[in-house]
Amino acid sequence: MKNISATVNNRHYNLPDKPVVVVCIDGSEPDYEASDNGGYIERAIAAGKMPFTKWMFENGTVTTAHSQIPSFTNPNNLSIITGAPPLVHGISGNYFYDRDADEEIMMNHTRFMRAPTIMQGLYEAGAKVAVITAKDKLRTLLGNGLEFDDGRAICFSAERADEATLAGNGIENVLDMVGLALPEVYSGDLSEFVFAAGVKLVDQFKPDVMYLSTTDYIQHKFAPGSEGANQFYSMMDSYWQQLHDRGVILALTADHGMKAKHDSQGNSNAIYLSDLLDSWIGAGTHRVILPITDPYVLHHGALGGFATIYIDNADRIAEVTEKLIHTPGIDYVMDSDSACDELGLPRDRVGDIIVTCEGHTTLGTTPARHDLSKMKEPLRSHGGFSEQTVPFMINAKFAEDLSARYLRNFDIFDVAINSV
Ligand SMILES: [Zn+2]
Repeated sequence: MKNISATVNNRHYNLPDKPVVVVCIDGSEPDYEASDNGGYIERAIAAGKMPFTKWMFENGTVTTAHSQIPSFTNPNNLSIITGAPPLVHGISGNYFYDRDADEEIMMNHTRFMRAPTIMQGLYEAGAKVAVITAKDKLRTLLGNGLEFDDGRAICFSAERADEATLAGNGIENVLDMVGLALPEVYSGDLSEFVFAAGVKLVDQFKPDVMYLSTTDYIQHKFAPGSEGANQFYSMMDSYWQQLHDRGVILALTADHGMKAKHDSQGNSNAIYLSDLLDSWIGAGTHRVILPITDPYVLHHGALGGFATIYIDNADRIAEVTEKLIHTPGIDYVMDSDSACDELGLPRDRVGDIIVTCEGHTTLGTTPARHDLSKMKEPLRSHGGFSEQTVPFMINAKFAEDLSARYLRNFDIFDVAINSV
């Protein structure tokens, strides 16, 4: 036994004598009261598509946890892998606005990270670690701090698996190892590749701890219980079984849920904040940032459940706040000092006001800036409190009674490593 431990962001991790595999199932809406029609996992189990997960419900530990707000991919993946909120790690969304430079800045570079990851801490303590992401956008952030010259770390994305090198990723010839073709970026195959590679790494690389992060392409398109969703969850179940059979501690959570954001005709529901603010305080006096915006917008048109607003004239913040509170569909409006305290966000990376909306609507800027023409299915998206509840599942019984604990998705490494 190697006896490896590390303290990272004020939490102590003492590796068990089994490999630990943590999975972030991107956009996995669970079955809880606010769901439209049950959760993805519960519906797929009911359809007989997830026999291993059904076993976990009976023999492991299955509950729900709260994700980080905004319930977006990057803030939550970073929270999960650091065990801390964005206040600590710095990544509060895909974008922020730099007031001094008058520039909207994409936060996908490691220079925006303010804390080490759990993987980095354990790697530095002597562990063998592996990180596999579906999309390449997360790879550099999640792999930050790992060195690839001593054969103890691997980090690559399914999207660019063909470009992985020993020097840059700790691994090469990934397609040969996995035995699958390079997947399309907009596909369920991108996530399957992550799991197929993860199983191979457990066999060949034998990591002490591994993080697998999928993409929510399927959940943006398909509702829980639909054929497309069940097929995807069935695929995941078969890989979870394979990981379980290899004796790993398997811990599963999600970055956020996913809800239908359209009316019965399939038309997207959106509150266009820039247009509202133009009519309230005049054009050119404010800026609305939607931190869901990223280069991969085909499946949501940059419409999500969270926005942050910068107001040029601070004297008008209270007035705008009051008007937003009375806008139908909006469920949370808070000045940023209070919101950052409450939600654990970095004050310098949000605007003056934070806004979220209810389950079946989204927040936009102005219609011309949201191209929904390429979306083939009615809008499904996430970002607010209505997508905050996520699954939290482990293939073992907890040593600790978790029912008394307020669980966050970013407690998953702690629970998997320390509590099982
Ligand atoms: Zn996501």
